[in-house]
Amino acid sequence: MSFWVDEIVDGILAKNNKDSYLITDWKTPSGHVHIGALRGVIVHGVVSEGLESKDKTTVFQYGFDDYDPMDGLPVYIDQDFKKYMGLPLCNVPAPDGVSESYAKQYAQEFMNVIDKMSFKTKIVWTSELYKSGKFNQAIKIVLDNAQLIRQINKEISGSDKGDDWFPLNIVCPKCGKVGTTKVYGWDGEKVKFKCEKDLVDWAEGCEYEGEISPFDGNGKLPWKVEWPSKWSVFGSDIEGEGKDHAASSGSRQVADKIFREVFKGQPPFDIPYEHILIGGAKMSSSKGLGVTAAQMAELLPANILKFLFTRTKYKRAIEFNPEGDTIPLLYDEYDRCAADYLNPPAGGDTDMARAFFFTETDLEKDLPQYYLRFSKIANFLQMPRIDILTYAKEEKTSDLTEVEKVEIENRIEVAKKWLADYAPESVKFTVQENLPEITKNLTETQKNYLHQLADVISKQEKWTGEDLHKAIHDLKNETAIAPKDAFSAIYITILGKDSGPQAGWLLASLDHDFVVERLREI
Ligand SMILES: [Zn+2]
Repeated sequence: MSFWVDEIVDGILAKNNKDSYLITDWKTPSGHVHIGALRGVIVHGVVSEGLESKDKTTVFQYGFDDYDPMDGLPVYIDQDFKKYMGLPLCNVPAPDGVSESYAKQYAQEFMNVIDKMSFKTKIVWTSELYKSGKFNQAIKIVLDNAQLIRQINKEISGSDKGDDWFPLNIVCPKCGKVGTTKVYGWDGEKVKFKCEKDLVDWAEGCEYEGEISPFDGNGKLPWKVEWPSKWSVFGSDIEGEGKDHAASSGSRQVADKIFREVFKGQPPFDIPYEHILIGGAKMSSSKGLGVTAAQMAELLPANILKFLFTRTKYKRAIEFNPEGDTIPLLYDEYDRCAADYLNPPAGGDTDMARAFFFTETDLEKDLPQYYLRFSKIANFLQMPRIDILTYAKEEKTSDLTEVEKVEIENRIEVAKKWLADYAPESVKFTVQENLPEITKNLTETQKNYLHQLADVISKQEKWTGEDLHKAIHDLKNETAIAPKDAFSAIYITILGKDSGPQAGWLLASLDHDFVVERLREI
């Protein structure tokens, strides 16, 4: 089994080996874009990079569906925006009062994240495509084949919309809504439509009824039909989607069948990818704020954010909890993958080395050969008097290179933000100024251990973290105290809680006399 990106690339080449490929993906800018939507961008983006590494040329076209109706009001949007429900997102004003439209505001926010990842994307907007006539031919084909589309819908999803249903929504010339209109007739040039009061429960139509040309932006295809229409307009070679769409009798199956039978084409190579789960719950992109892509791009450097998605096979769900231990563990895994890439084990590239390869955009530049663990940095930041770069130099046992220093400094910045805004209480600690109340609960054995530790520490004025770490262990073995009891006694006495960072470094970071007095105070 090769690495998942290589597997997909091999699959594409085996199915359709050509010189250049068009990779397409789409997103409705209906609000802050969730971190989950990055999976689509990254899966398509790395497949594009994988093909290029095999000397193919690729275009990665990312489209914003800004002609979709506003069909929900995110919790962070003013209730006043309810009046815009049903309008195409490109015609809804921007909540920030500055951007060109609602769609542009949120699309731009997401584009900034995509740009940070250094993917070369060609951005398109469905509103512009409709208005410029790009969809005209597809609209004609769809309306001419309305009966066949009704039948496919019924066969696969079981929904029967009736014989007077045409797969098109007109942008109502009176109220401007696109979500409320129903087309019920087509004569080859014009469609008959009505803006219905109760067609959907999220918007109310104005009941205007009339005839209009469906072309040049007057109409918009419903998305299950728009999807294959896009393939026919652009000639997509590769396009995947989130697993829920890929399920049997899901929208991908409908789109594939419409593409084969109505547009007489071969659907693009499919990449059905799994979701990302936050705290066990699948994220929804329009309800609540959750974790947005922009928020995570602000916290994490582009390569670490990208690594979150490259490391996990596309068919496996990603569990992500920035308020848990996901981020320190992500860094640890990144460090292991970097090590595999930099010093390949016998037997060739591992999955870990390949994950690193698809994460880093510039492998020609100088790379760090040594990484200081993120979790250690997060701990050190909470201890007084620790010089992190000096610690790193000692751990590495030689001078740090420039890129190694920069990497550590970046991690310090990330760890500071993480501790301030996300980190769980379990990793946070504060050295207690006074003897904590809960030391009352220490056992005689624990107290004894602490007194003896005070004697050991008092024998010598200066301690390194490592020497103190060894001394703590030696004493623990001599006194035959259970390891857990020994360490929790130290943490309770210094931090007022029963867990903490590496005890040797913690005590070495504190004032010598303070430590001795505190241990004797017990
Ligand atoms: Zn209307």
